[in-house]
Amino acid sequence: MAREEPRRYRIGLLVGDGIGREIVPASVVVIEAAMRAAGARVEWERLPFGRSAIDDHGTAVPRQTLEALADVDAWLLGPHDSASYPEPQRSSLNPSGTIRKHFDLFANIRPARSLRGAHAIVPGTDLVIVRENTQGFYADRNTYAGTGEFMPTPDVAIALGIVTRPAVDRIARVAFDLARRRRRQVTIVHKANVLRMTTGLFRDVCREVAREYPDIEVDDVHIDAMMVHLVRHADRFDVIVTENMFGDIMSDLAGEIAGSLGMAPSVNLSETRAMAQASHGSAPDIAGRNIANPIAMILSSAMLLDWLGSRHGDEAVSAAARRIEEAVAETVASGVITPDMGGGASTSDVATAVAQHITA
Ligand code: NAD
Repeated sequence: MAREEPRRYRIGLLVGDGIGREIVPASVVVIEAAMRAAGARVEWERLPFGRSAIDDHGTAVPRQTLEALADVDAWLLGPHDSASYPEPQRSSLNPSGTIRKHFDLFANIRPARSLRGAHAIVPGTDLVIVRENTQGFYADRNTYAGTGEFMPTPDVAIALGIVTRPAVDRIARVAFDLARRRRRQVTIVHKANVLRMTTGLFRDVCREVAREYPDIEVDDVHIDAMMVHLVRHADRFDVIVTENMFGDIMSDLAGEIAGSLGMAPSVNLSETRAMAQASHGSAPDIAGRNIANPIAMILSSAMLLDWLGSRHGDEAVSAAARRIEEAVAETVASGVITPDMGGGASTSDVATAVAQHITA
């Protein structure tokens, strides 16, 4: 009987700006090694995005990129240096916000896990922030058309915070389902003592959903108190669910607590699509020197493969994801780490070491 051909995955590649030019190619090396080792196949579709797309197409996210993304299995998004873009692009919705909004990537999953050898501020940290990605207090993306941030006069600036029951309901379910595959504990983070209606609704709808998950332990914490708890006891948390802006800020802190922001991965998910994206930005202060930490982007890629494996019931691709995670842990434990983690390795040293651990 003829052997079944391994499924071929088409993965979009949006390199982005700054250290994106270093960490995205590093992730490609690692994904190719892991997919080859697992007997799976990947085909890359490199698409215009970021500053070079502004120069070539007049916009950081050209229409042809959005159309091509609709057609691939999943994609990797490098960081963008949108704060340095020329006008009008600088004042427009930033490129990752544009893509998240276009594809309704409503769940931003941001793990923070300390690894042996990573000099974590709180060793034993192993948590996941589930960030609502479509509304909340990021006013540049929380409206259907136009923006929720505006200036009626040069001296008055207003930003709208938006929280809706359906959006909270769906993100809460992502958090509780995830907790069932982990340590069965969810912390709802809000600021309902001040933002009573908006973050109060967020907390209350999460609590309602929690009733359907009686096996999960639930608590809720104010965002300001949460900063204190994380710095001292990040190791006590499992799954944290929160609104857009709180989640963005909290995940940078959690990443640093676990070892470095340069190690903090994420995926953005809808029901049918996935985008891998490091939690950090384009790090212009270190770009072009081959010293950026590629681990956040590499672990984001592993999360993407894990999603692809579950979605297609493809055990080989799920195995490739696990292999990448193990190889990253082995690389860090062996001391091959970049300067942000206290080491002397380069971006490409780390990528090569991870790929070697995969094939060893
Ligand atoms: P940043 O995350 O780029 O950098 C913050 C600090 O962390 C810097 O000191 C940087 O060197 C360090 N750092 C970040 N990633 C690192 C890595 N992989 N290895 C080693 N060190 C790393 O934040 P910023 O400086 O506020 O923003 C720079 C640009 O990135 C801005 O244009 C901003 O708008 C953009 N940005 C983009 C995204 C995204 O693409 N999703 C997210 C945040 C910021």
